[in-house]
Amino acid sequence: MKLVIFGAPGVGKGTQAKILSEKLKIVHISTGDILRQAIKQDSETGRNIKNIIDKGQLVPDEIMIEIVKEAITSENCSNGYILDGFPRTVNQAVMLDRLFISTGQSMPIIIDIAADDEVLISRLTSRRTCNSCKNIISLSDIIENNVCPVCKAVNTLEKRKDDDEEVIRKRLKVFHETTAPVMEYYSKKGNIIKVNGIQPIEKVNADILAELH
Ligand SMILES: [Zn+2]
Repeated sequence: MKLVIFGAPGVGKGTQAKILSEKLKIVHISTGDILRQAIKQDSETGRNIKNIIDKGQLVPDEIMIEIVKEAITSENCSNGYILDGFPRTVNQAVMLDRLFISTGQSMPIIIDIAADDEVLISRLTSRRTCNSCKNIISLSDIIENNVCPVCKAVNTLEKRKDDDEEVIRKRLKVFHETTAPVMEYYSKKGNIIKVNGIQPIEKVNADILAELH
């Protein structure tokens, strides 16, 4: 089974991709993870990518599509994969289509995890990270003040830097400007599963699996 997963930052896209890859026994291809891995390995490609990101620029589509090509045509993807983090632009979606044609692969099923911006913002700004156990905790799960509900450490809960409202609004704006048109592009081709992302993780996952079967 071949899947591509979409969703706004904070909607739990990566979490769903991970669960789906385990349940369906397919490979989770996270382009973000692949980029971080490439940088870590300090290969020539890795150094190129690091230079680009350090300058605050986006990794060019040509490099991204090469990374995706290598991943989806690799042996371990013979049972299928779930692509997470790509395509982010219509141009990348067009390149991906060409890649499917040139490698003789069928079009994947597109999963769109939908969520209202304001709900996402309130959800993200009410998250804390525990400095002790490193878990991400939702404010609604904190029963005793200043006590981590997972490891019971006291005064270890901190607001994440990424979770400032202004930063979140900026990321959502970029998402709507660049990635939302990708959904429009795919809507003309069909094969889209749309689920409500404002539900517990298990329910979102069950909804996706129900649509796939
Ligand atoms: Zn903790």
